[in-house]
Amino acid sequence: MDPWSEIEGKRAHDPIFQNYFSQNCRQSVDGFCKKRSADAAVARAERCIRVLGPIIVGAGPSGLAVAACLKEKGVDSLVLERSNCIASLWQLKTYDRLSLHLPRQFCELPLMPFPAYYPIYPSKQQFVAYLESYAARFGICPTYNRTVVCAEYDEQLQLWRVRTRATGIMGEEVEYVSRWLVVATGENAEVVLPEIDGLDDFKGTVMHTSSYKSGGAFAGKRVLVVGSGNSGMEVCLDLCNHNANPHIVVHILPREMLGQSTFGLSMWLLKWLPVHVVDRILLLIARTMLGDTAQLGLKRPTIGPLELKSLSGKTPVLDVGTFAKIKSGDIKVRPAIKQISGRQVEFMDTRLEEFDVIVLATGYKSNVPFWLKDRELFSEKDGLPRKAFPNGWKGENGLYSVGFTRRGLMGTSVDARRIAHDIEQQWKARGKHPDVHERGPSYALGG
Ligand SMILES: Cc1cc2nc3c(=O)[nH]c(=O)nc-3n(C[C@H](O)[C@H](O)[C@H](O)COP(=O)(O)OP(=O)(O)OC[C@H]3O[C@@H](n4cnc5c(N)ncnc54)[C@H](O)[C@@H]3O)c2cc1C
Repeated sequence: MDPWSEIEGKRAHDPIFQNYFSQNCRQSVDGFCKKRSADAAVARAERCIRVLGPIIVGAGPSGLAVAACLKEKGVDSLVLERSNCIASLWQLKTYDRLSLHLPRQFCELPLMPFPAYYPIYPSKQQFVAYLESYAARFGICPTYNRTVVCAEYDEQLQLWRVRTRATGIMGEEVEYVSRWLVVATGENAEVVLPEIDGLDDFKGTVMHTSSYKSGGAFAGKRVLVVGSGNSGMEVCLDLCNHNANPHIVVHILPREMLGQSTFGLSMWLLKWLPVHVVDRILLLIARTMLGDTAQLGLKRPTIGPLELKSLSGKTPVLDVGTFAKIKSGDIKVRPAIKQISGRQVEFMDTRLEEFDVIVLATGYKSNVPFWLKDRELFSEKDGLPRKAFPNGWKGENGLYSVGFTRRGLMGTSVDARRIAHDIEQQWKARGKHPDVHERGPSYALGG
């Protein structure tokens, strides 16, 4: 049974919480209720639930990793997820042909390796199956269809108040309250849409890669893929039999170099050499293997792929076969778009072409600034921790961040272990000296 539902009850029947609230935080509750009555049109029920363990927002790999590490230390947590499944990015927003971009040893979550028979680059289906059994093994049962719309630290209560809305137009509002809040909503929470003159009035279909499943749906159509990351390149490969025209590509590296994964080789070289030297080595090998990519319209930026990743978060493209299709002319490269009119796209080199479909492979961004009312740990600008890895995992007052390291699942594992250790220390200390919060069961507001 869920640890929080066991202790859930009506606030009206909860003398400890009633007393505590009436003496200590009348103002805060009144303010909260006023705001809620203004929102009455959308809120069918209003409940507030006290959670003894940490609240984790997001049931992606990062949220699961923290919940598992905590569980191993005997600490139950509540995982809140806006969609109806774990790893919604992987299950609902990725294309069918996706495999892990990085070799499996860099993508395992703590405490449970991939099955030994998995390939070096597990498929999306294999990765999701691994995550399903990970959640089952550690007894993680997220609360689904709960979007966190606001999370705020209440100084008087010394607790985090996490307001959620059930998915759907008339979504029920529930507030969860806890001593600890773990932000695990990911670097890829919301799609990024580019501003292109005339895009809104394009007469064909416009879609983001998050809705793209397979090239089969576009047989015979002229498709323009805008964006040059791994997703854009892979979607192009999927579409290349259907006249796809990818937009400019930034860095392209072979997925394997010198008989091992490019990522593994980079990690190994970085142990001994500075980033700019490793970049030069990678580009030298890439040039030997791929030739001069500029001749095909793929101009490289002035800084190297690893430096670019650490400065801007842009992941270098690890080629899975797209480059050969560009070389053979099956995929055509175009420069940036100047403007769109009807079905016609004008490129910066003044060329005009008609398309049926535009696929925007323009990436994702964090949504933390929209709901977290704390400006210390996360930057408002990009929704990522202000301090770079490995120092961005912990904020003030029991606030934590996991999976915002720009280092993929490897960064997630490091964060998750640290967070669980930190909370465990406090959990043990508080267990010996329980305060009023821990004696009080949860409460419900007018529900
Ligand atoms: C196509 C693609 C391929 C990738 N390949 C690799 C790879 O090979 N290796 C690697 O290390 N990384 C890879 N990544 C990066 C990958 O996104 C992360 O490694 C991994 O998914 C991060 O997990 P996460 O839990 O931090 O974020 P996510 O997987 O994005 O999970 C966050 C969860 O939070 C939920 N959420 C968001 N906002 C709210 C809210 N307000 N309230 C409630 N819930 C919310 C979301 O619905 C989601 O389920 C890839 C990414 C993409 C897009």
